[in-house]
Amino acid sequence: HLKLAHRVNSIEVSLIVRLSETAAARKAAGEDVISLGTGEPDFGTPDFVLDAARAAMERGETRYTANTGTAALKTAIVANYRNKGIGIGPKNIIASAGAKQVLFNAFMATLDEGDEVVIPAPYWTSYVDMVSMCEGVPVTIPTSAREGFVVSPQALEQAITPRTKWVLLNSPSNPSGGAYDHDQLRALLPVFERQRHVGLMSDEIYEHLVYDDFSFVSALEALPELAERTLVVNGVSKAYAMTGWRLGYGIGPEVLIGAMAAVQGQATSAPSSISQAAAIGALEGPIAVLKERRADFERRRDLVVAGLNAIDGLVCSRPRGAFYAFPDCTGLLGRRAPGGRLITTDTELCEYFLDRAGVAVVPGVAFGAPGHFRLSYAYAQSALEQALERIAAASAALS
Ligand code: PLP
Repeated sequence: HLKLAHRVNSIEVSLIVRLSETAAARKAAGEDVISLGTGEPDFGTPDFVLDAARAAMERGETRYTANTGTAALKTAIVANYRNKGIGIGPKNIIASAGAKQVLFNAFMATLDEGDEVVIPAPYWTSYVDMVSMCEGVPVTIPTSAREGFVVSPQALEQAITPRTKWVLLNSPSNPSGGAYDHDQLRALLPVFERQRHVGLMSDEIYEHLVYDDFSFVSALEALPELAERTLVVNGVSKAYAMTGWRLGYGIGPEVLIGAMAAVQGQATSAPSSISQAAAIGALEGPIAVLKERRADFERRRDLVVAGLNAIDGLVCSRPRGAFYAFPDCTGLLGRRAPGGRLITTDTELCEYFLDRAGVAVVPGVAFGAPGHFRLSYAYAQSALEQALERIAAASAALS
């Protein structure tokens, strides 16, 4: 049989994928499983976005576009950032098949073997695998609920070496919901001023999903001094419920965008012309829809956080954004399941929840933060209520 490249040996089949496959198989077998594992909104794509896509098809926009995206899409993105007081031009933009491809292009374009990427944990699982695939070395720094899952300047600086290429921030964060406010971003500036060889990659895909009075700030807005070495990663997947359209974009200095374009040009070329048109519809659409959906997510967040904190053994901080809760479950570890099985890790606890309660959640170890699990609250309120009841009963059954 064909020998595979060493490159793929370093990629682990994601725990998230494994667990959701197990949950799906059980569901298919007729079991009553509530899966709170995946990271996508349960809303449909808004009608005005569908209309924009239909209109594009009818206009015949069904051909290859420019590699880095259409002029019209770039105009919409430029306008969006101008509204935030951030001046960018079309040459600072690349549109790709999801934020994921933006990240991948960036790593492909910038990492030589052994180059390091500093990633605060808990982190989105794909970051470390992508870095490894591109022969880089992920260097993770733990953050805690107490600090709001935000990295301190001291911890950040300690993690930086002469091999560091990027610091990768994700605000609001999947899985923790932590987010950097203006001052927390500014506090990192002296580190970057001392470490001039380090770039800032800022994944802002959840920018519109923030709650209470938290006000989202882009790295480009808070740290304009770093614009020449900042890549903002964004897209329409999460805010506009467009995960299947595969449309993300990167904003960065021209030279970097050019290198990313070279990677993309040989891998996939531009993203779908229709998805690009749909994204223009999203970016230029009424923000009332975003507000409504945000309010809906906020209610569900409150329900889930309160429900989890009511369970003995779980402690859940209040996420500032995204649509995940990330409770600390160390209080349940070391207990025994009915039947005698000892639960010692977050993975075993999640397996137990699936077996006993029919609820699928993802262990924190998948995000570099063992002793937690992630639950997505982008599900119907009734499913969330039922899942919480079941988790509570299963937790109470541990002794
Ligand atoms: N970045 C983060 C933090 C995410 O959680 C996700 C999706 O789960 C992505 C990027 C990928 O987004 P896209 O679907 O646009 O590729």
